[in-house]
Amino acid sequence: MLQSHLYLASALLCLVAVLAALEGFRPREVSIELFGGLAVILAGGAVGGWSFLRYIRMLVVAQHAADRSVCGTCKTYGLLEATGSGAPSGQGNDDLAISPTRVRCRKCGNEWTIA
Ligand SMILES: [Zn+2]
Repeated sequence: MLQSHLYLASALLCLVAVLAALEGFRPREVSIELFGGLAVILAGGAVGGWSFLRYIRMLVVAQHAADRSVCGTCKTYGLLEATGSGAPSGQGNDDLAISPTRVRCRKCGNEWTIA
């Protein structure tokens, strides 16, 4: 979650940079500042958009894991410990994909896999 918030902070910083560049953008005056401003707008928009999309995707993955953190036996939420990793998910090298993780309920001892 810390990493996802760093992506959000990066996206917000890029937004500020793009807005600052847009404020000084004067397309009628051809100068080095024009190209510099245009470069900041394009690069800031691209990096900021990518960072924001990655932030959203990380939140979706975290929500997916949280939805599977309820014990099926005693219905306790989030009171679990990881006991090991399961089989590889087989979804390629996507670093945001959830790898199957074996967990055990601390209350009743029930085990299941979060995938
Ligand atoms: Zn339980």
